[in-house]
Amino acid sequence: MRPTLSTTTLRRLQLPFTLRRNASTTASNPSIYDVVIVGGGPAGLSLASVLRSSAWTKPLKIALIEGMDLTPAREWKPTPDNFSNRVSSLTPGSVAFLQSTGAWDLVKQERVQSYKGMEVWDGVSGSAISFNTALGSTSDIAYMCENNNLTSGLLSHIESLGGIEIRDKTRVESITNGTDDGTLDLTSWPVVTLSSGEKMAARLLVGADGANSPVRTFAEIETRGWDYGRHGVVATLKLEGTGEGEKTAYQRFLPTGPIAMLPMPGPYATLVWSTTPQHAAALKALAPEDFVAAVNAGFRLSHVDVEYIVSNVTKGVVDEFAWREQNTAVDEKRVPAKAVSVQEKSVANFPLKMRHADSYIAERVALIGDAAHSVHPLAGQGLNQGIGDVRSLAKTVEYAVQHGQDIGAVLSLEPYFEEQYFKNHVLIGVVDKLHKLYGTTSAPVVAVRSLGLDAVNALDGLKKFIMDRAASR
Ligand SMILES: Cc1cc2nc3c(=O)[nH]c(=O)nc-3n(C[C@H](O)[C@H](O)[C@H](O)COP(=O)(O)OP(=O)(O)OC[C@H]3O[C@@H](n4cnc5c(N)ncnc54)[C@H](O)[C@@H]3O)c2cc1C
Repeated sequence: MRPTLSTTTLRRLQLPFTLRRNASTTASNPSIYDVVIVGGGPAGLSLASVLRSSAWTKPLKIALIEGMDLTPAREWKPTPDNFSNRVSSLTPGSVAFLQSTGAWDLVKQERVQSYKGMEVWDGVSGSAISFNTALGSTSDIAYMCENNNLTSGLLSHIESLGGIEIRDKTRVESITNGTDDGTLDLTSWPVVTLSSGEKMAARLLVGADGANSPVRTFAEIETRGWDYGRHGVVATLKLEGTGEGEKTAYQRFLPTGPIAMLPMPGPYATLVWSTTPQHAAALKALAPEDFVAAVNAGFRLSHVDVEYIVSNVTKGVVDEFAWREQNTAVDEKRVPAKAVSVQEKSVANFPLKMRHADSYIAERVALIGDAAHSVHPLAGQGLNQGIGDVRSLAKTVEYAVQHGQDIGAVLSLEPYFEEQYFKNHVLIGVVDKLHKLYGTTSAPVVAVRSLGLDAVNALDGLKKFIMDRAASR
């Protein structure tokens, strides 16, 4: 059920007691803003950038609050042989939207890698499906872009447009409803109190504040979902060869979760290996050369051998892999080039969960990105969904401005919720089912899923349809 915010009762964030006590000691009047965006991750920055790019929403008074220091993103000067381990595959639809706002031009293109082929296979049965733009699909399958590259480009875009008040290194410490001082009634307006002591009243408060969204808590919007009991191990790898020519993404479904090798410029690639927390800890503890061998094993050895190595071998994975590889038939066309090294300090892991908020809107509140939904990374869709939210919310706010509506009223925000919620819900459900379907070695399930994969693989028309649908998100 959608919560309402008609009450003027003080609402507090679920913060430690001392912070809650501070939150109740309101003093000075807040400054008034049309839009306050909490969160300077890719979703929050995208929204700020698009609102400033539109002639209709440009005059709005907008502030963006980010707890972290944005200076490293502003001054980002990476070297060509070093890539961040946080990389997202952006669909052509997401990139086209960022191009339309002008932000994509400020993303460092030499660090973005498109790919035209994708090999996906079942690590238990060996059934496989190949996607390739040679099937007649309209564009590249996706673009691998470091999150830093995107946020740095978005920040440059926002700063070149001017007019957005950015407060970084500043946390939102509490959110309450405003008061009525006789001249101005802010009782239905959220007022955020920042760690600097500054207070801002928002006609529209946007939660782009990630999975643990304080804005969502303030709005009393419930989320549903579960933890997967899996971690995503990420790393930047250097592969054999020069990496020239057309690129392909590879994903193999192992019973503990998929392992994916996604292309980056030159001989580099980014790894996302979803596995148990125990395996993730074991992988992280390996010496670099053993980690590289474990990754190669993940793509080339039988799932039983991979399980054995990751569960039991803490040293000497290189020899263990070399020995087992001799006795394993590998279809070299299906697997990525072997990894030869791992970038220093690039191995990290993130707990994976599925969450979906019951609503994306409440009176004077909208949620976007991970604040509204978290999805398993196996389909690389989390940020693409967030960019879809941004596109839809910006369009909704623009329409409200054009028609003289109150941009914070639930009625004005409804089109955003209606456009995004169901679409996201379906995708989250499909990804969740895929995770479950491939997380088993049960013979009948493996037989049925392999039949499905083989059947789809045989139908070029259906594959083209799937690719076009995925690309347009
Ligand atoms: C292993 C892995 C691989 C992934 N791969 C892909 C992929 O290939 N493609 C894809 O589309 N997606 C991918 N994703 C998902 C993607 O990374 C996320 O969906 C995306 O980063 C979320 O962006 P966001 O801006 O919504 O949230 P965040 O990036 O979490 O940003 C939220 C921001 O809010 C700030 N904040 C929070 N609370 C406060 C506060 N109180 N005050 C001030 N600031 C606050 C935080 O500091 C943070 O900067 C992947 C995720 C994982 C874990």
